[in-house]
Amino acid sequence: MWQLIGQDRAVLQLKRNLGTGTAARSYLFTGPPGIGKMTLAISLAQALNCPSEESPCGQCSSCQRIATRKHPDVEVIDLASDAEGNRTEIGIDRVRRLQHDANLSPFEGICRVFIVDGAELLSTEAANCFLKTLEEPVDRVVFVLLAVDEELLPATVVSRCQRLELRPALASVIEAYLIDKLELQPPQAGLLARLSRGRPGWAITAAGDSTLMEQRAERMESLRAALEGDYEERFSYAARLAAGFGRKRQGVFDVLDLWTVFWHDLMLIRLGLKEAVTNTDIEAELARRADGYSLEEIRDTINSILKTQQGLRSNANARLALELLMLQVPLGRGELEESYG
Ligand SMILES: [Zn+2]
Repeated sequence: MWQLIGQDRAVLQLKRNLGTGTAARSYLFTGPPGIGKMTLAISLAQALNCPSEESPCGQCSSCQRIATRKHPDVEVIDLASDAEGNRTEIGIDRVRRLQHDANLSPFEGICRVFIVDGAELLSTEAANCFLKTLEEPVDRVVFVLLAVDEELLPATVVSRCQRLELRPALASVIEAYLIDKLELQPPQAGLLARLSRGRPGWAITAAGDSTLMEQRAERMESLRAALEGDYEERFSYAARLAAGFGRKRQGVFDVLDLWTVFWHDLMLIRLGLKEAVTNTDIEAELARRADGYSLEEIRDTINSILKTQQGLRSNANARLALELLMLQVPLGRGELEESYG
């Protein structure tokens, strides 16, 4: 039983691969966080070790222990498993330990599976060392590398792996899962499914833990303040974001994603495509705000946000890039006129 939400294509490809008896020695699954890479890796480990005819059955002791990460032949290598505490890379020591373990026969299963979660975090030294392991495959050992993007890995490592890119799942598929399996109410399920942007793991986490939605509410509040504020307010917002960029880049990209989706929603409403909006819980507000901008202004703003993201990726001065963006976003209208006019 392959328990993957909205990844039928990837599952089919793996099943075919296993069915022909030509299973690869090393796999690379790529896609954004929450898309299902680890779930797929666990399913693959189950399939490789399950004694049932219909493998993975999900029921046998082997499948269940793999699912709960208690199987001695399935090992996850990630930052947390690297003994040296607050590291930001998976170090060479961890890879050496893995190499040692990979030379042992399976303890009780059919095949040893090593899952490297965050393969882009392998230090250069560790990646080179790991490459040797990939080049000399051992019987009954399979490596599964998980990474956001294969571009972040050395080409030599990538070329050794059977690659599988996980694509965003359909919002309708995620929504159905949230309603059927997690018993969410339809409006909430619909909102989380859309906000997840195709990442079931994100939607499931957000359903069980309010932190993600609280964070969104805070970010949305700051966005509103910047939209309605004058340049002084906007520049102080840009400065706060830029300060955060030094510590946690991804947080700033997430904020800019929120901006993109927000303006995309305004565009959809302007075009009369209300049913395609992502932020379904603030639809009335979006409609009011959309009235305040021309389609050209909305288009230019989305372009500016995308350009800012691009600039930040290629290491532009974060504060300058964000200030420029704040200059390009049209000064607040719509909501403002309604409140004051
Ligand atoms: Zn099984």
